Amino acid sequence: MARYTDSKCRLCRREGTKLLLKGDRCYTDKCAYERRAYPPGEHGRARKKSSDYALQLREKQKVRRMYGLLEGQFKRYFEIADSRKGATGTNLLVMLERRLDNVVYRMGFANSRSQARQLVRHGHFHINGTRVNVPSILLKEGDVIGVIEKSRKMPVIQDARDVLARRGSPDWLEINDQEFKGTVKTLPAREDITFPINEQLIVELYSK
Ligand code: SF4
Repeated sequence: MARYTDSKCRLCRREGTKLLLKGDRCYTDKCAYERRAYPPGEHGRARKKSSDYALQLREKQKVRRMYGLLEGQFKRYFEIADSRKGATGTNLLVMLERRLDNVVYRMGFANSRSQARQLVRHGHFHINGTRVNVPSILLKEGDVIGVIEKSRKMPVIQDARDVLARRGSPDWLEINDQEFKGTVKTLPAREDITFPINEQLIVELYSK
């Protein structure tokens, strides 16, 4: 499957916010956005007036890139969110948060969503005791996610656990650090997603 392979820091600079795509580095003064908080490229520093469409597009790109999804995948999530009861924007964000790769990242078993996705693909996790390798699985209330026994000493997982203290984990997840597992206590609510997102702009973009 096609994947974005260029610099991740360029994406943060392009979207004008820290998307936290590089794990521990994002919290240090090595962060490229901290040093150059303007869009990349020759005209990056030029002031531009943004149209409504440009604002909507940037918001969609920001969220899509944050969760590491391709355009088609993101659009499908939007269509499902739109077909469900409730506010489409909230449905969309809640669905993205429920993805297994996001939950692995949020639980502190990986330093970024892309690292979480790779670890899941390589079969290092189980859900309710069953080994899985599909990052897009949507978790339900009560699901227990754990690191399989023989993967627990992997340096990448150990490092991520150290960084979690700095990053913090959301209230809708309960983490058992000793046993390398965590539980989805409840499904996330909109207020649990604290990253600044204006999902209404995404709804407006796709509703055109
Ligand atoms: Fe973005 Fe992290 Fe790179 Fe900073 S270090 S620009 S937050 S990906």
